[in-house]
Amino acid sequence: MKVGFIGLGNMGAAMAANLVEAGHDVTVWNRSPDKADALVETGATLAQYPADAAQGDVVMTMLADDAAVEAVVFGEHGIAGAPAIHVSHSTISIALAERLAATSGGGFVSAPVFGRPPAAEAGQLFVIAAGDSALVDACQPLFDAIGQRTFRIGDTAPAANLVKLSGNFMIMAAVEAMAEAMTLAEKGGVDRKLLLEVLTGTLFGAPIYRTYGEIIVEDRFRPAGFAAPLGLKDMTLADAAATRYGAVMPLLGIVRDQLRSAIAVDGEDVDWAAAASSVRHASGIALKGQ
Ligand code: NAP
Repeated sequence: MKVGFIGLGNMGAAMAANLVEAGHDVTVWNRSPDKADALVETGATLAQYPADAAQGDVVMTMLADDAAVEAVVFGEHGIAGAPAIHVSHSTISIALAERLAATSGGGFVSAPVFGRPPAAEAGQLFVIAAGDSALVDACQPLFDAIGQRTFRIGDTAPAANLVKLSGNFMIMAAVEAMAEAMTLAEKGGVDRKLLLEVLTGTLFGAPIYRTYGEIIVEDRFRPAGFAAPLGLKDMTLADAAATRYGAVMPLLGIVRDQLRSAIAVDGEDVDWAAAASSVRHASGIALKGQ
């Protein structure tokens, strides 16, 4: 397929590489054009403007936040009005997903993803897709190139974003729970790595406990696979959704503040798993390597 890819950050660069690898005709655009160099070497074409990447069948966007998506879609030389189906993979607000669905000339599919950069590199993301079923069908070969499985959430595009925000809230809740349990064990004289081995080998074998558990055991918060400010963005978007739908989420407030604390104390360049460091700091445990 003739596909454009906009946003070559930690996730997007790997996703675009898998589209090239799968044999699609890929045109890329990134605000900082140097990030396209490696992709151009493997056969992608570099577009001058976002709109130039949206003249084929599909244009996929993987950008930081609402403001970045708005700039690329509605800004000068943006993709609004272009003929391609717009597939939005970024984690954005329900309100922006609604606006994109209502205004996209070529059609709109909301397709946020679960999986960190290593999963993106391996083509093992989970794609959460919602929108007109004929459009989702048309995009399926592209989803197969970037992911291991596509979940269809129905015809209403923002529903996929609601699933994504709900999932990210649960990841942060798991990070908080693991950090508290590991801190308790460690203060009582039990090695946190051993605790994780027992828990993931018994009742908590889910990928989220394994992946994030290892990061938290090692305090491996730099370099960030998913930067803490983007995680805070997601908790804020989840809170906006909770207000909109009247959902009471006290735990969401706690994990959002733990992220704020991690950013204030450890800096903006840490992974969002560094929310765990807030528990450590408060309990008087130094991070490994510090
Ligand atoms: P990232 O590495 O920070 O990349 C962000 C991308 O957005 C870059 O291409 C950046 O361009 C671009 N961008 C930022 N502001 C822009 C603007 N105003 N105009 C145009 N482009 C702009 O982020 P990421 O980790 O790849 O995440 C991308 C999205 O996926 C986010 O919505 C995130 O929440 C979501 N997500 C991330 C993960 C993860 O584990 N990392 C997993 C699932 C979903 P420059 O290169 O010029 O800065």
